[in-house]
Amino acid sequence: MSDFDAIVIGAGNGGLTAAATLAKGGAKTLLLERHNVPGGCATSFCRGRFEFEVALHQLSGMGDEKFPGPLRSVLHGLDVLDRVEFIPMKNLYRLVIPGRLDIMLPADRNGTVEALQKRFPAESAKIREFYDLVYAFFNQLISVFYLRDPEASREKYPLYFKYALASSQEILDEYFTDPLLKLTVAAYWGYMGVPPRFLTFSDLAALIFAYIEFKPYHIRNGSQALSNALIETFMNNGGEVRFNCGAAKIGLRDGAVAEVVTDRGERLTTGCVVSNISTPVMYNELIGIESTPKEKYEEMRGSTIGPSSFTLYIGMDCTPAELGIGETTNFIAAHEDMDRAFTQMRDIDEPAMILVSCYNVSDPGASPDGTCQIAVVDLQYAEPWLAVPPSLYASEKYRYASKVLDLVERVFPGFRKHIEEIEVATPLTHIRYLGHPGGAFYGFDQYAKDSRLVNPPVQSIAGLFHAGSWAAEGGFQPSLTSGSSAGRAALKHIGKRGR
Ligand SMILES: Cc1cc2nc3c(=O)[nH]c(=O)nc-3n(C[C@H](O)[C@H](O)[C@H](O)COP(=O)(O)OP(=O)(O)OC[C@H]3O[C@@H](n4cnc5c(N)ncnc54)[C@H](O)[C@@H]3O)c2cc1C
Repeated sequence: MSDFDAIVIGAGNGGLTAAATLAKGGAKTLLLERHNVPGGCATSFCRGRFEFEVALHQLSGMGDEKFPGPLRSVLHGLDVLDRVEFIPMKNLYRLVIPGRLDIMLPADRNGTVEALQKRFPAESAKIREFYDLVYAFFNQLISVFYLRDPEASREKYPLYFKYALASSQEILDEYFTDPLLKLTVAAYWGYMGVPPRFLTFSDLAALIFAYIEFKPYHIRNGSQALSNALIETFMNNGGEVRFNCGAAKIGLRDGAVAEVVTDRGERLTTGCVVSNISTPVMYNELIGIESTPKEKYEEMRGSTIGPSSFTLYIGMDCTPAELGIGETTNFIAAHEDMDRAFTQMRDIDEPAMILVSCYNVSDPGASPDGTCQIAVVDLQYAEPWLAVPPSLYASEKYRYASKVLDLVERVFPGFRKHIEEIEVATPLTHIRYLGHPGGAFYGFDQYAKDSRLVNPPVQSIAGLFHAGSWAAEGGFQPSLTSGSSAGRAALKHIGKRGR
């Protein structure tokens, strides 16, 4: 008899939904988390009178009660909807290139098309056609990929077969001429981490379709509220959690999961593990490369570690209106060249495109009265930060933070003088808190060859399941959803039925 039916390693989004699914399904489950709070990225921290949201800018896949998105049904199944308040945003984003472009796209198909047509009248007809293509294509993708139509064929789903793995850049080039328009349409590329040249059209269409149809959401009291609610479901259903307790090793017997050894040296027997940690750490360190099946090793060898970010968490001593901020989600780009912006993610010279989120616009209670909290995210790979000598790390961090603030100031003049609290995170900070290589919070780079359309993850070791951004794509919706799927698969493996 094992100590536990299942052990979940990591209490990020994917680990939490997996653990809650397992406990609800009647499995005796232990959740191990090396940090002292649940959530992974989905967490918050306090400085002065502010509680800062760490990661969530725009939650996808929720929808409302009348038109629920896929994530809403996952969270409904885990009993959290009555304990967490989801706040819809009216707009997708404002995008500014100082002095050259300033446009707001509403979270509504016609509204977005009309806003683009107004700003780019010469390409009016093509704008409407592009959004028609996105919708028609995405409906075909749902039938083929999600509903698994057994009669799927090139004749029945011509758009799917033509565009699914095509480079988004090719389609942007086919439809549009003005590079500013291409950037405006594809600004969400940062939510996947690779620019349109490398992003499949399936991914770009999914981002556009999902955020327009199901709307972007924020969570009242931040993503920590969702993490807390999920862990409550887990514990209310008999789950056991240990914080400040990491998994150090996974022991196999006859090629199947047999035990987990904690970083305190405790040996816990189980026939089932759900991993919410990075795949490289799982196989290189916890299982050991000598016990890793060849096909898993080959799969990992072909992948590259995705980006992390340089992030400023800022508490302001004034309201958003006093700063001229009227929108929650603001992209500010220094230029319109998305390939160059991707290259700039590998150096720490100049920010190319930043995301400035002001939570108080959609949730006035996001900070004390008369103040607001702002997160500024600049996607970056870890390499340039790993190359900074420790003696120069602090000065580099503040030098680069100042460059980022210069870009913010070009759109919101006077920003700096209202800063009351500021915390700066680099990719090294994300490495430290998440334990992932490169501090990569989207998992592996999402190149076309790594797309789940062609490359579904293989289950390589009996009793080992994967949840979270390293198993699915990065982001809240994919990681939460993948955890619930992993939890269901694990229940089947241990012979329990989900409730
Ligand atoms: C600054 C920032 C902005 C973002 N913006 C958005 C956004 O607007 N929208 C969106 O959808 N997504 C966004 N994301 C991405 C999103 O937050 C992540 O992709 C997602 O939360 C990852 O969830 P996960 O399940 O992979 O777990 P993770 O959050 O990666 O958590 C993994 C957990 O495992 C734990 N762990 C690691 N090793 C061990 C071990 N050996 N033993 C036990 N525990 C261990 C870690 O402590 C951590 O708690 C953002 C992320 C960041 C950092």
